[in-house]
Order: sequence, then C-alpha cells, then structure tokens
Amino acid sequence: MTSVTAYAAPAAKAPLERTVIERRAVGAHDVLIEIAYAGICHSDLHQVRDEWHPGIFPMVPGHEIAGVVTEVGSAVTRYAVGDRVGVGCFVDSCRECEYCRAGEEHFCVKGNVPTYNGRHYDGEPTYGGYSSHIVVDENYVLRIPDGLALDVAAPLLCAGITTYSPLAHWNAGPGKRVAVVGLGGLGHMGVKFAHALGCEVTVLSQSLRKKEDGLRLGADHFHATSDPATFTELAASFDLILNTVSAALDLDAYLSLLRVDGTMVNVGAPEHPVSFNMFSVLMRRVSIAGSPIGSIRQTQEMLDFCAERGIGAEIEVIRPEQINEAYERMLASDVRYRFVIDVSSLR
Ligand code: NAP
Ligand code: ZN
Ligand code: ZN
Repeated sequence: MTSVTAYAAPAAKAPLERTVIERRAVGAHDVLIEIAYAGICHSDLHQVRDEWHPGIFPMVPGHEIAGVVTEVGSAVTRYAVGDRVGVGCFVDSCRECEYCRAGEEHFCVKGNVPTYNGRHYDGEPTYGGYSSHIVVDENYVLRIPDGLALDVAAPLLCAGITTYSPLAHWNAGPGKRVAVVGLGGLGHMGVKFAHALGCEVTVLSQSLRKKEDGLRLGADHFHATSDPATFTELAASFDLILNTVSAALDLDAYLSLLRVDGTMVNVGAPEHPVSFNMFSVLMRRVSIAGSPIGSIRQTQEMLDFCAERGIGAEIEVIRPEQINEAYERMLASDVRYRFVIDVSSLR
C-alpha cells in the first residue's frame, strides 16, 4: 500500500477536500500511473450528491484520467515506464462472461468495477482520478496517442467514448441528420464526432448563448429549446437524437422531432425517472434507447480516431482547490466545455 494525495467528498453532498488515500501495491499485471489531468464529468457531481444511489464515502471521483506510467508490474507486456496513458470509467471486469469475452466489458454480466464509488471484487473500495497516482491492471488502461495532449485527452475517456459509441452503433455518417441535445461536456464531443463522421448536425441548447461555439465545433444548425417554435420548425426531421442532458426532459417533445424509424439515444443520466406517451413512439415507429460508456477496444479506437482527426476536448484547466466551484458552474451549464483538473500540485 502507498499513501497518495487526493480530493475526496467525506460524505454525501459534502464539499470535496484534500485528503490522503491508500493505493494498492503494484501487482504483476498492474501499472502505476502518475496522473497529470482528471476531467470533471457531471456523473461525478451526481454521485458525490448521492443522486443515483447511496455512494461509498469518502469518495474520490474522477474517471477521465490522463497521465504517464511510472512503474510496471513484472508480468506487464502492453505498457512501459514513460508511456502516456488514460483510464476511463471502469478498472476491471469479470473477464469470463459472454460480453467480457467479446471485448464488450462495459456490459459485463457480473458488473464491471467502476473507477470510483465502486468496489473491487475483493471488496476494497475504488478511488478515482482526483488524485496524484492510480494503480490499474494493464488490460483496463488506454494508450493516448502522441498527437493528443494529455489535458485535452482526459475528457475523451468518458465524455468522448460515451458519445462516440452510440454514434458508431447507430451508424451516424453522411446523409444522417443528428441532433445533439445539451452542449456540455458530452454534448460538445457529440457535436465534434457527428461532424467528423459527416452527419448534418443540429445543436438543441436551452438558449442561443452557445450558438457561436456550437457552429465552430462543427454544428450546421443551432436552436434554442426555450423557443417553442423550435419544436414545430424541426418536427419529424432527425434520424438520431443524442440526448446528453443531466436533467429530465419532456421526452414527448423531443420524440416528435424524429423521422420514421428514428432513434432518440439517451446518454444523460438524470436523478429522477422520466415518462413518455406511447403515441410518441408508435406513430412513426421511433425508438427510445440508452447507451453506457464503451468498451476498452472502442475507447482505444476513439482515441486513435481523435489523434488522426486532431480532435480533443475544449477545456478549462483548474486547480484542485477550484473543484467545488467548478461543480456549481457545471450545474449552471457554465462550462466551456469540460473542466479538467491539473493534479500536479497533489504530487
Ligand atoms: P454537463 O457538462 O453539465 O452538460 C449537460 C448539458 O445539458 C448542459 O451544459 C446544458 O446544455 C444541458 N442542460 C443542463 N440542465 C438542463 C436542463 N434542466 N434542461 C435542459 N438542458 C439542460 O454534463 P456532462 O458531463 O456532459 O454529462 C451529461 C449527463 O450525461 C449527466 O447526467 C451524466 O451523468 C451523464 N453521463 C452518462 C454517461 C453514460 O455512460 N451514459 C457517461 C457520462 C455522463 P445547454 O447549456 O446547451 O442547454
Ligand atoms: Zn463520466
Ligand atoms: Zn464480464
């Protein structure tokens, strides 16, 4: 065990504070990563505030981790000291179920081990990336290609893969009209990917405040959902709606924007259940779907795609002391477009 510095919420809804946690010794298959940057995902806020389920405290959030390998275990073959690497939303899975064997660990039947607010299979709690170092099995570590800076790469480990994966699954490409709802951490990556894949991209944001940014990020159109005319003007016009909003939306209003056989895929994970009118789906045979993060293989594919296309997150780098303030700004949709913590001061 090694003591490392971290930022943790001592209890549900409590502000995060500097603390010390224990990391396991580097095992044969582990790499020790010196963390450079950790992105702040809205899921961190949901979990610190116990909005999904009772959390495990103290909680060290952070599943958008970018850093450098500083030690490798005796059996490690994929990584060497000095490699630039990332860690996303899970750090282990059962490796035996049909999904793990198919390289779809995010669907692990036993349940994969979340990077934080979870437990390893031996019962030990997991602590995430708001810390100086992390020890992770090499099979759950990603390689950050040379062309990608570590700070803009960090958010790709969650916001990136969570938007890339559904776009890939629903064949987003030329000729497809895609709407991205919510221009935050996930939404801005969704716009970049949908544009890079050749789709016609529309942003649906609460106001026109972020319009210039949205168009610069690759959107073709930008509409305010606070304007009721948006919903009449855009009725039955999208093949795919990617909903990244952290709060519950009026699903019927958004479903009315889908073409025949269109899909609304939800990646936003609001605290409260939502409902919809059955007529909203049956009249034009549309689908409501959801999508979680992505596999290790697809996360690597996404990182390589980003390096090839020069895609990174738009970030605002903060110091660890600013985490609580960043949470409040994120809640107010005042982030352009991902806070990334420079954790070097924790070393
Ligand atoms: P974020 O940066 O806060 O972005 C959410 C955006 O949604 C805001 O910027 C805002 O965009 C819009 N929004 C916020 N409140 C709204 C409201 N009441 N009504 C309408 N729009 C609203 O959050 P994020 O990090 O992108 O995460 C978004 C959601 O995805 C969270 O619930 C998070 O937990 C979830 N998530 C899910 C997965 C998964 O595996 N499925 C992975 C990561 C995150 P505008 O200003 O443009 O309106
Ligand atoms: Zn996340
Ligand atoms: Zn499994």
